[in-house]
Amino acid sequence: MKITIIAGARPNFIKIAPIIKAIENKQFEGETMTFRLVHTGQHYDKNLSDTFFEELNIPLPNANLDVKSGSQAEQTGAIMIAFEKELIHNPCDLVLVVGDVNSTMACAIVAKKMNIKVAHVEAGIRSGDMTMPEEINRIVTDSITDYFFTTSTSASDNLLKNGVSTSVIHFVGNVMIDTLYQNLERISPPNFWSDYDLKTGNYIILTLHRPSNVDEEHALIRLLEGIDQMVGDKKIIFPIHPRTKAILGEKDLNLKNILFVEPQGYLNFMYLIKNSFAVITDSGGISEETTVLGIPCFTMRTTTERPETIEIGTNTLVGITIENLEKEYKKFTAADIHLHKRGIPELWDGKASERIIDILLKN
Ligand code: UDP
Repeated sequence: MKITIIAGARPNFIKIAPIIKAIENKQFEGETMTFRLVHTGQHYDKNLSDTFFEELNIPLPNANLDVKSGSQAEQTGAIMIAFEKELIHNPCDLVLVVGDVNSTMACAIVAKKMNIKVAHVEAGIRSGDMTMPEEINRIVTDSITDYFFTTSTSASDNLLKNGVSTSVIHFVGNVMIDTLYQNLERISPPNFWSDYDLKTGNYIILTLHRPSNVDEEHALIRLLEGIDQMVGDKKIIFPIHPRTKAILGEKDLNLKNILFVEPQGYLNFMYLIKNSFAVITDSGGISEETTVLGIPCFTMRTTTERPETIEIGTNTLVGITIENLEKEYKKFTAADIHLHKRGIPELWDGKASERIIDILLKN
C-alpha cells in the first residue's frame, strides 16, 4: 500500500510524527507499506515548521507545495491546484490527512476527486461553531472520508449522527498524545528559563491565535492587559504566534508580567507547559496536552470540539472575555478546583498511531 501523508501546519507536524514512526516500524517488520510525505507549505516559518521536523525526527518531505499565506480561499485553492499535480505525478492508494487545517480539507477533496481513498486522523470532532474555519474544514473533510480515525467516543458519535457507517469509524485514540509520550523524556527548558527566573509553578503559559481573540486589535490589547493584571506576581510566558504578532505590531504595551517570546519548538514548549502553574490558551491541541499532564488550562473560546478535556481533564472553557476568565481563574486559585478533577481520556495511551497503521494494513 502506497500512502501519501499530508502536513501543512504546526499541529499537523506533531500529529504525523508518530504515524510515520509506526509505518517505519512496520516496514522494519517486513510490511510493504510505503509513504510519501507532502508538506503543503501552509506554515513555513522555521519556528512553526522546520524546528518540528528536526526535533521530532520527521523525514524531510518528498514534496513541498510551497503555498505560503493567503486568504482562506487563496490558500485552499493554491493547495488544491498544487496537490492535484503532485498526485498526477505520484499516484498512491490512500491520502492520509490529519486535523482540521486548510491543507486537510484541500488535499482530501483533491484525492477524492481522483478516486483515491482518504483517511482522516482526528475525524468527527465538532465545535458546532461555523464561524471557525476549522469547523468547515472538519465537516467537508468528513463528508468525503473513507477511513475515520477518532480520538474519542463523542467524535465517533458525531459521525454516527451524520450517517457514517460504524464499519468505517475507528476509535483509535490521540496521535498528538503519542508524540507527547514519545518525547516526554526529551523535553528541556528553553534558553530564557534562568534569565526569567522561571521555576516549576511560578509562571503561566499564554497562547492566543484564533481570529475571535486576536483579530480586533483593541480587544486583544484589553485582553492582554486584563490577563497581566489578573495574575498577581506570576510571570506569563507568551510565545507569540506570527498572526498575533502581525496584529500587535510594534505597539508599546503597558504590561508588567507578560514576557513575549518566539513560538517555541516542541521540546521547549512541552517543558514549559509541564512545569507551569496554569495555561491560558485558545488552542485545541494544547488543551489535550494539559489534560494528559494534569495542568490547569483555561480555554479562551465559547465552544470546544474536545469536550473530554473538560469532562475528564483539567480544561475549563472560559469564553472570550477577560471578565469570565477572571471569574474562573479566581475560583481556581481560591479552591484549587482542578486538583479534584484529573484523568486521561480513553485510549490516549500513546498507541493511537500503531492502531491506525494496523487497521490500514488489514483493509
Ligand atoms: N506548540 C509548540 N510551540 C508553541 C505553541 C504551540 O510546540 O509555541 C504546540 C503545542 O504543544 C500543540 C500544538 O503546537 O501541540 C498546537 O498548535 P496550535 O495552537 O497552533 O494549533 P491548534 O491546537 O490550535 O490547532
